[in-house]
Amino acid sequence: MTEKTDVVLIGAGIMSATLGALLRQLQPDWSITMFERLDAAAPESSDPWNNAGTGHSALCELNYSPQQADGSVDVSKAVDINERFQVSRQFWAHAVENGVLGDPSAFINPIPHVSFVHGADNVDYLRKRYEALSRHPLFEGMEYIDAPDEFARRLPLMAKGRDYSDPVALNWTDFGTDIDFGSLTKQLLAYLGYSGVEIAFGNAVLDLDKQSDGSWNVRSRNTRTGATRTVNAKFVFVGAGGYALPLLQKSGIKEIKGFAGFPVSGQFLRCTNPELIQQHNAKVYGKAAVGAPPMSVPHLDTRVINGRAGLLFGPYAGWTPKFLKDGKLTDLVKSVRAGNLTPMLGVGVTELGLVKYLVSELLKSPAGKVNTMEEFIPRAEGPDWELITAGQRVQIIRRKGVGGVLELGTAVIAAGDGSVAGLLGASPGASTCVSAMLDVLQRCFPQEYAGWTPKLKEMVPSLGVKLSENQALYGEVWDWSNKALHLTRDNLVDNTPTPAGVA
Ligand SMILES: Cc1cc2nc3c(=O)[nH]c(=O)nc-3n(C[C@H](O)[C@H](O)[C@H](O)COP(=O)(O)OP(=O)(O)OC[C@H]3O[C@@H](n4cnc5c(N)ncnc54)[C@H](O)[C@@H]3O)c2cc1C
Repeated sequence: MTEKTDVVLIGAGIMSATLGALLRQLQPDWSITMFERLDAAAPESSDPWNNAGTGHSALCELNYSPQQADGSVDVSKAVDINERFQVSRQFWAHAVENGVLGDPSAFINPIPHVSFVHGADNVDYLRKRYEALSRHPLFEGMEYIDAPDEFARRLPLMAKGRDYSDPVALNWTDFGTDIDFGSLTKQLLAYLGYSGVEIAFGNAVLDLDKQSDGSWNVRSRNTRTGATRTVNAKFVFVGAGGYALPLLQKSGIKEIKGFAGFPVSGQFLRCTNPELIQQHNAKVYGKAAVGAPPMSVPHLDTRVINGRAGLLFGPYAGWTPKFLKDGKLTDLVKSVRAGNLTPMLGVGVTELGLVKYLVSELLKSPAGKVNTMEEFIPRAEGPDWELITAGQRVQIIRRKGVGGVLELGTAVIAAGDGSVAGLLGASPGASTCVSAMLDVLQRCFPQEYAGWTPKLKEMVPSLGVKLSENQALYGEVWDWSNKALHLTRDNLVDNTPTPAGVA
C-alpha cells in the first residue's frame, strides 16, 4: 500500500531539520515524513565531532579573503559568507524566542575567532586583510595584533616555546561562535516530532520514482526488519549529505546530469589533557599550505559540546571512496554515469595538486601529524592528543565545457518543476543552512513563496536585504540575535590573561 504525505525529507541532518522547521511554521497543515537510514539524529556530518563547529562567518577563515596579484585583499566572498551567517543567526534567534529551539547555550556559544599567520609576507597580508575588513560594518571590532607579549597573553598555549624571530600576527574578533550542529539538529527534530512530523529512523530510502501527476513515490527499507515501504509525496528534499548525489541520480532529474562527487575524508587530533584545554579559548585558523585545498586550512579550535570545553586540531585529509562515514566502498564507482565520466576524468587531470596533497597527507605518520601541529603549539606532545575520524565530505564535480571543475562550496540542485531538490557539497556548510534552505523554498515553491514572505520576514527580518548596505537594520538584528542567543560578552569563554609572557 502506498501512503500519502505532502513532504518527504531524506536524512536527519541539519539541512533537512532546518527545512522541516521552516515548512512547519510556514505551512503547519502540510504532512511531513522524514527518513533517516541510521538509528540516530545527526549521525553523519552534522554530529559535533564530525565537523569543526565553526559558525563560519568569514571572521577568521583566510580562504574567504584571498590576496590578489596586485597585493590587495579581496573581501567580497567574506562579506557574502558573513551575510549568510547573519540569516542563520536571525532564524535561530526567532526559533529560541518562539519555543522551536530551547536553551541556546546547548548549541551556540560565543568564542573569539582568530586568524593566525607567521612569516613576514603573511604578516603583511594579514595587516592588509585587517585594513580591508575592519572598516566594513559586518567586521567592526576586529583587532590586529603582532606584538609577542599580547600574542602570548591571548593565546598562551600557542605562545609557549614560540620563537618570535619568525614574526607572527593575528586578526582577532570577540564575536565569533562555536556551534554544536548535532545539538541544534536534535532540538529542531524534537520540535518536528512534537509538532506531528513522522521521523522514521533506521529507514533507508532506496529510490525515488516520479509519478504521472508530478508527485514522487519514495521507497524505503527498514534496516532492522528489511520491510519496504512506499510513501507518495508532492515534494521531496534530499538532505542525505554524501548520499544526496546518488539519490538525485536515482530520481533521474535532468538537473543532476553532469554532476559527480569527489570524496575527501578527514581526521582531527582531539586534546585529552584538561590542562591544555583550559589554556586555549579561541578558534584559530591558519593558512592552507601552498597547493592545498581550502578545506585543509589548519585550525586549533575550542569546542563546547554538552556544556564542556574541548579542543581539536586539524583537519588532516584522508581518502576513501565512501560518500558517507557509514557509507560503502563502492559508493564512488556506483556514482559514475555516462554523463559525469568526462567531468570526473577532467578533474583528475586538472587537480593533480589536490591529488598530490592528499597522497602526502595519507603518508603522514602519527608523529608527522603532531609535527604539523607544532606550527600552532610549539610544545605539542603526542600523548596529549587522540586521532578521531571526522565526517566525510563529497566535493562537487560539475561539467564545464568538455571537462569538469571541482567546486569546494555547496549547491542546491532542484528539478525544473520544483518537486524535488537536494543539497550537494559541504562548505561553508551547516553555518549557512538557513540561507540554503530559503533558496530551496524560493525555487521549489514559487506559488507559495509570496504568501510566505511576511512570516519569513518575522523569522529573518533581513530577508531580501543586504545587511552590509543597511547598517541600521544590521545593528538591530545583531543586538536582537545576540540577546536571544545569549551571545553577549558576559557569556564569552573567559580567556583569562596568564602571566605566561613571551616564552
Ligand atoms: C571535517 C568537516 C568539518 C566541517 N566543519 C564545519 C564547520 O566548522 N562549520 C560548518 O558550518 N560546517 C562544517 N562542515 C560542514 C557541515 O558539517 C555539513 O555541511 C552539514 O553537517 C551537512 O548537513 P546535512 O544535513 O546536509 O548532511 P548530514 O549531516 O551528513 O546528514 C545527512 C543524513 O542523511 C542520511 N542519509 C543518507 N542517505 C540516506 C538514505 N538513503 N535514506 C535515509 N537517510 C539517508 C545520513 O545517514 C545522514 O544522517 C564540516 C564538514 C566536515 C566533514
